[in-house]
Amino acid sequence: MSLDTSGNRTMRISFATALVAFVLLVQPLGAIELSQDFDSGSLNVAASTVVGNTVNLVGRRTWTDPTYRYRYRWVYFKASDVAGLQPQFTISAGSFLGDLSDHRYLYSYNQTEWSYFDNCYVSGGTYYFRNHQPFTGNDVYVAYSLPYPVSRTQAHVAAVTQSPFVSPTISGAGGYVVGHTAGGVDNIDVPERIIAPQDIYGFKISDPAGPAEKSKVLLSSGVHSCETPGNHALEGMIDFLLSDAPQAVCLRRMAEFYVYPQVNPDGRLAGYYRSTPENPSKDYNRFWNNPAGFTDMTAARNAMILDTGGDVDYLLDFHSMFGAWSRAPYFETIPSDANSPFVLALAELEPGIYCSKTYGTAGMLRIWGQSASGLKAEHSYTPEFGCHPGVLEDRLDQMGASYAKALFRALWSESTFVAGDATADGLVDAADAAVLADCWGFEDADWSMGDFDGDGRIGPSDASILAANWGNTFESLATAVPEPATPALVGTLPLIWLLRRRRLLLARNLA
Ligand SMILES: [Zn+2]
Repeated sequence: MSLDTSGNRTMRISFATALVAFVLLVQPLGAIELSQDFDSGSLNVAASTVVGNTVNLVGRRTWTDPTYRYRYRWVYFKASDVAGLQPQFTISAGSFLGDLSDHRYLYSYNQTEWSYFDNCYVSGGTYYFRNHQPFTGNDVYVAYSLPYPVSRTQAHVAAVTQSPFVSPTISGAGGYVVGHTAGGVDNIDVPERIIAPQDIYGFKISDPAGPAEKSKVLLSSGVHSCETPGNHALEGMIDFLLSDAPQAVCLRRMAEFYVYPQVNPDGRLAGYYRSTPENPSKDYNRFWNNPAGFTDMTAARNAMILDTGGDVDYLLDFHSMFGAWSRAPYFETIPSDANSPFVLALAELEPGIYCSKTYGTAGMLRIWGQSASGLKAEHSYTPEFGCHPGVLEDRLDQMGASYAKALFRALWSESTFVAGDATADGLVDAADAAVLADCWGFEDADWSMGDFDGDGRIGPSDASILAANWGNTFESLATAVPEPATPALVGTLPLIWLLRRRRLLLARNLA
């Protein structure tokens, strides 16, 4: 064993100092790792660079079509080894297919709870975003808007199908898978990866307690691969429909909802813009009238036609938009439908959501859905959502619920009643019994007087229908679910109906 000499020691100290200096200098450089190889991830990792504290991102081409060859839209990636760092992210604003001015990217440590970046701006054709504080987690997920991966659709379908009000559709043959996709190879600006064929889900929401003849409502989302806020809003609508809210109880009795929550899972998984790995250069919302070559669209179309009998009253296809941050959410419909009871009700419930009158093209789900060879939808809408100031998951859920509430008002106004429900509030209770008693023995009567068997006469047979359908009162449901909109609804709807009935009776007595 030799003793430590001073020369050796000096060498060791300078080596250690140099090593520390090297580590301090180099560690932040290139330490951040980027990846996109996960459910709905999307980034051109190979072309992106990390230089010191700056992460220069490059979006993937939206598709191989020359028109869009140099444009990108959906961005969703993981940045690793970021704890304690405050990186400055950049990405081209000029080649973004949309408007990034004032837009704010989102980040999450767990892909579930998302926050907007603090500091986002466009300057000289580049979009910059970063936080005022360093990241606290080692891995951070970053996205253009609130992601909704295919795994979330699977989890949500598994959860909602536990509800007694959810059942399989015909095409599900006893289950909730109504078709399959083709899968394919994703090699657009990423190392080749295989997208396995996926299940397409479908289910029905309804309460058999309602009248046999119910309205049919078709709900879908995910047509455009990267339009994730639309899926959040549809999830909010579904959750509302399965809730104890009085409007939901009524809706389940008045209508059958045929739900296809994610019709383009391949495109979503691959992090595409509007296409699928099977047809990477084709817009998935332009071929519903002629889906040749689309395995998934053909399966979804067949399921929709078989399940609904090819004839629905309402169709809502949830999408998302990519305009400026301040642009309000809206929905599209043909001009002649812009004053429907549904549109008017929605305008009252959500004054911030505007109606865009557009004819659309024959290959869109909304337009094919209205055609005679499609779903003969009497009313057809494309709700469009985005991420905006104050908009996160809760607000998207709330807007989805508003679409359901507007539908309730529309269907109620179109008079689809539960047997025994003379007051048309969707429930059979004492008010209906009072109406029946009031009109006992009347001839030439109608439903609103208590003629439930349709013989024109108010008598024992109507009373037995009422008794057989006796159920919860609107009031008891309303108190069970404290909701601001409910008390007014409880008070006004039966009242309006009673007033109408009195007017009708008055008119009849005068005649
Ligand atoms: Zn869309």
